[in-house]
Amino acid sequence: MKEYILNKFEDFALAPVILRAVSELGFDKPTPIQEQCIPLALEGHDVMGLAQTGTGKTAAFGLPLSQHLMKVKDRPKAKEARALILAPTRELANQIAENLRAYVHHAHLRVNVVVGGASINVQRQKLGRGTDILVATPGRLMDLVERKAVYLDMVRYLVLDEADQMLDLGFIHVLKEIASMLGEPRQTMLFSATMPTQIKQLSKAFLNNPKTISVSPPGKAADKIAQSVHFIGNRTKADLLKECLAANKDDISLVFCRTKHGSEKLKKHLVERGFKAGSIHGNKSQGQRDRAIREFKSGEIKILVATDVAARGIDISGVSHVYNYDLPEVAENYVHRIGRTARAGRSGEAVAFCSPAEIGLLRAIEKLMGVDIKVASGEMSEQEEKLNIGKKKRVRNRVKKKSDFRGDKRAKQALKGAKEDRPARSKHKKVRRKSSPPNATQGAKPAGSKKSSKPSRKQRLRARANNANKSANKGA
Ligand code: AMP
Repeated sequence: MKEYILNKFEDFALAPVILRAVSELGFDKPTPIQEQCIPLALEGHDVMGLAQTGTGKTAAFGLPLSQHLMKVKDRPKAKEARALILAPTRELANQIAENLRAYVHHAHLRVNVVVGGASINVQRQKLGRGTDILVATPGRLMDLVERKAVYLDMVRYLVLDEADQMLDLGFIHVLKEIASMLGEPRQTMLFSATMPTQIKQLSKAFLNNPKTISVSPPGKAADKIAQSVHFIGNRTKADLLKECLAANKDDISLVFCRTKHGSEKLKKHLVERGFKAGSIHGNKSQGQRDRAIREFKSGEIKILVATDVAARGIDISGVSHVYNYDLPEVAENYVHRIGRTARAGRSGEAVAFCSPAEIGLLRAIEKLMGVDIKVASGEMSEQEEKLNIGKKKRVRNRVKKKSDFRGDKRAKQALKGAKEDRPARSKHKKVRRKSSPPNATQGAKPAGSKKSSKPSRKQRLRARANNANKSANKGA
């Protein structure tokens, strides 16, 4: 691959109107992802970008995309879209659209955004006038396609942003469906903060001979984030949080909780104690979510309590502290969470609260990131650690199943598909737990022998039939 060392936006072959917008935004020089991505995208390559949040990836794909679209002489026809950007959450889609509008301000390209939770009729009307760049969440886009409000066959540029989260949310089938409707030839760019095997497979299906770029290895946090952990019991977490917040009154803090209910409860508690706090999670209406983000951005509230899904990908400059009030069940989410601070070259602090039951989660995070997180207070003895790690594994499996089911009908279908792909051993485990009494299982399993514990096809079929019967009886 060619080496690009470009220190100014003027070094890229970008149109003067785009350079003007970039300069008005105060971008002096390209960020590393922009340095790598812009030339490749301008040359028309497919791009696979491994980039953390906050690295400037929206401009990395947005600027070359705008440049390509500006060259097309005629305007998009009614209901037609020319470029499509898919993002996992409404907040991220809105934010991308907002940034793109600033980039194409002088280029007179029409940017539309379609996300759930907003009026579909208004979106329909806007699409009716034709769109240069359409930013969408997959679910709402499919709704609009089904209602024939937009045609995708003229889309020649596709961007999949935060692709790993789109897969987490079970959008794989929808993505495939959407991709099959797009025009050819097509330039595709895929960005992901992590690179699990599924993303590699996705890139094979979607990208054509892509150029891979990476601004930091997967799982590595921005260098400017100071990370620390407090070992603390669940009951005293709220007190410690209030202490930390009170000690840094002017800080802008994002507090992550595991559940919607937990986030709301914590926010209420903080407000009752006089803190200016808001919350953002799936139980809030889109209007409430937008308002909380607006207030947080404007500084009206200094503390935002959030769940992962709601806060992923949102860009709020100036967040000085990220508190992991509950540690995430999936280690990669820690990287996304702490990526909310230290954005655009600033520094930040990531503070984790680790209860005994969460020790396994902490160790998984440290393993993923290749670091030992500094202990700020408390301690965890080796014995306690061993005791809790077994517990963690069980909790993790349970939550994984739950989170797989989160989302819409399509997410459930995706899970069904994934289940069907699962190796026989995990099916066997499930069947055995449901169909056999515990003592029978123990007796049947010779120690250390994996092969001999595999049930025969006949046993599996019988167990499946038993399960089906049980469910039928429950239904009745
Ligand atoms: P993103 O990763 O695209 O969400 O961008 C993170 C933040 O960095 C946004 O607030 C951008 O406005 C800002 N940003 C993007 N590119 C640059 C740049 N070249 N110089 C300074 N700030 C930038």
